[in-house]
Amino acid sequence: MKVRVFRCKACNHRYRLGVSQCGYCFRPTALWNRWWVLLTAVVAGGWFAAKEFGLI
Ligand SMILES: [Zn+2]
Repeated sequence: MKVRVFRCKACNHRYRLGVSQCGYCFRPTALWNRWWVLLTAVVAGGWFAAKEFGLI
């Protein structure tokens, strides 16, 4: 399954999740389209939530 969530700001092409550049115009994609950024956000969010609920 191909997930296309974000659109390129330059050419409006919908690029795939996780790619670092637009498949059409090869401009860099949004920072949120990087797997490591999403992963870090999820881990950090989970960690803060765990701290908030007193699990850590
Ligand atoms: Zn583009």
